[in-house]
Amino acid sequence: MRKPHLGILIKPVSYDCNMACDYCYYRPVEALYPDRKRPRMSPEVFDAVCRQYRALEPRRINVGWQGGEPTLMGLDFFRRVIEIETSNARRGDCWGNSLQTNGVVLDDEWCEFLARHHFLVGLSVDGPGELNTMRRFPNGKPAFDITMRALELLRKHQVEHNLLVVISRTNVEQPDRIFQFLVDNDCHYAQFIPCTEPAGPVGGLSGHSITAEQYADFMLAMFDLWVENDDPTYYIRRLDNWIHQFFGLPPECCEYREDCSNLVTIEWNGDVYPCDFYVTEEYRMGNVRKSTLEQMLNGPEFRKFVRRAEALPPMCDGCEWLKVCHGGCYRHRAKLGIEQQETPYLCEAKKRIFGHVFETLERIKGGPADNELHRFLNHIGRRVAQERMAARAPAPARGGAPSGRRTSSARRAAAPPSGAGRNEPCPCGSGRKFKHCCASRAPSGRRG
Ligand code: SF4
Ligand code: SF4
Repeated sequence: MRKPHLGILIKPVSYDCNMACDYCYYRPVEALYPDRKRPRMSPEVFDAVCRQYRALEPRRINVGWQGGEPTLMGLDFFRRVIEIETSNARRGDCWGNSLQTNGVVLDDEWCEFLARHHFLVGLSVDGPGELNTMRRFPNGKPAFDITMRALELLRKHQVEHNLLVVISRTNVEQPDRIFQFLVDNDCHYAQFIPCTEPAGPVGGLSGHSITAEQYADFMLAMFDLWVENDDPTYYIRRLDNWIHQFFGLPPECCEYREDCSNLVTIEWNGDVYPCDFYVTEEYRMGNVRKSTLEQMLNGPEFRKFVRRAEALPPMCDGCEWLKVCHGGCYRHRAKLGIEQQETPYLCEAKKRIFGHVFETLERIKGGPADNELHRFLNHIGRRVAQERMAARAPAPARGGAPSGRRTSSARRAAAPPSGAGRNEPCPCGSGRKFKHCCASRAPSGRRG
């Protein structure tokens, strides 16, 4: 049942955090571990995860560290992480670590470490200070200044990083100011996560969440701003996924994949769940100290989750966007209390977005009248081709995982490019075979 390239999200401190953001989706996990006030992963549990993960994915290993706030583990824990990964690695392995953080504890020592070990860091910020008001400390103090200080430190130490922007009622009307914020701060890698939290256990939208129409307006404005900006060094994750799909290449984001079987979440004590939106008693798959990941991936809880997520509502049959959308993210149906036969939340938004984006890309690709845009798309096509050539596709990442075209590795052993698709037409649209076009310019690894 399981496809290759499993991604793992590790929650070393579970729900624990030094901030108290209004829209946090992970805080309810506290109810699963009521007796543990400060959950912390032990090196022994991580060692068990590592050994089992490597047995499943012998060469390409991607570990995403998330929370809560994973840096609460302290720097010494992450030093042990590198030791454990190194002791479990074999020649030819490519190990990667990413870390999603609010940046509060980052200092020079942390950033030196993250740079030295090639962590890809996702920093959470929702735009300029006046739009970042959902992100705050338990005493109500805004977090913006400390986040910007963390951004400076990441830049100073040349830590690979991207920005994670949650789109909520606070900032959804301001795509232009958010895009300008990226440009002003020289942030070339960003991802936008729609806040679609349920109001309660029975569904409905929370007060911070955005409507499907707002989401479509925001993403379409962002796409147009990005095209107008005409600078392919800006990477916006969802846009990049759509471009991959436009070129007939697989997207890396699980939301646009056919099923939800390529990702698991591992809690502080070794408990394993599917996607981290489903860290619930019902879907607890087992524990790494008692079962293997292989057994858990073939166990009843995971199969139940994947089967439910795969079951699409009737209106998706025959939809022209089915191959791109796949019915959307399961949480946008089940968690919001939408019944299986009802229209998925964001469905109408997706139809608007795909229609506009694909039409625009088609026009740019086929339009010699607009040489600048044509050059721009060719540039992106070449980059996509080069990534394909490098062919160490990232493990499918869930919405909140740091992601970018760059991957970080704790240990990067030399691995040859796969050469996949060398006789196929080049995705840059030149009309030549891939091997005679962009393949000849492809780098030898995913990181340039
Ligand atoms: S756009 Fe709507 S109908 Fe079409 S596949 Fe997506 S969710 Fe289903
Ligand atoms: S985020 Fe959505 S699409 Fe991705 S694994 Fe979870 S439910 Fe599935």
